[in-house]
Amino acid sequence: MIAAKKKQILILLVVFSVTAAALLLGWSFYHYSGAQGKKNNMVLIRLVVGPLQVNCFILADEKTKEAVVIDPGDDAGDILKVIKEKGLKVKYIVNTHGHFDHVGANKALKDATGAELLIHEGDAPVMASAPLHSRSFGMAPVSSPVADRYVKHGEVISAGEVSLKVLHTPGHSPGGISLLEQGMVFSGDSLFAGSIGRTDLPGGDLLTLLGSIKTNLMVLPDDTKVFCGHGPATTIGDERHDNPFLNKESGFE
Ligand SMILES: [Zn+2]
Ligand SMILES: [Zn+2]
Repeated sequence: MIAAKKKQILILLVVFSVTAAALLLGWSFYHYSGAQGKKNNMVLIRLVVGPLQVNCFILADEKTKEAVVIDPGDDAGDILKVIKEKGLKVKYIVNTHGHFDHVGANKALKDATGAELLIHEGDAPVMASAPLHSRSFGMAPVSSPVADRYVKHGEVISAGEVSLKVLHTPGHSPGGISLLEQGMVFSGDSLFAGSIGRTDLPGGDLLTLLGSIKTNLMVLPDDTKVFCGHGPATTIGDERHDNPFLNKESGFE
């Protein structure tokens, strides 16, 4: 009896420690089965990086091993460790926008993988000013190489089963983009769970941001999962109903 209880406590302790370690390390895995089960080989890995806790996402095709890294903001070593462990070939590094907290590990990742660096042209100057911007936050200067190519609204970024459609969602910054996969969208700093991106930084504009969210994100089905640039994931439906910036009382309709 006592031994059984001890075993139970031990199991609970192990479960608790593993969960706590995963939370502390800031990574989690999502195995994604898209609508109609078309994307059984796609895996999504989230790492929380840097002092501003940016969500860096790795989307990979486990069969071809091709991958896209979204917003490697910092902690290049941690990102590269996952890439190495899973044997991934990173085809593209995509920045949802050019703020320093999202681009800090671009260089290390590009050097290590040879991946092509993509951003919207509207945020090229924002990315170029990352060293100044990071210093104004009291942090060590962060810089990024210039993008290899600029992506446009409507363009699709593909790596094996991964196909991300670029949605231009300016307002938090002029060249901010969201990336649409089947049943999910990566919203950068445009839309958060219960909030929206700040618009007081250079190039930010509240009405532009609200327009971007309305035209490009709120048109998606309610069950679309939203992976934000910071904080927890949400769904379009939850934000449609609960986000105080997007309800009718706030003038958003
Ligand atoms: Zn930002
Ligand atoms: Zn950010």
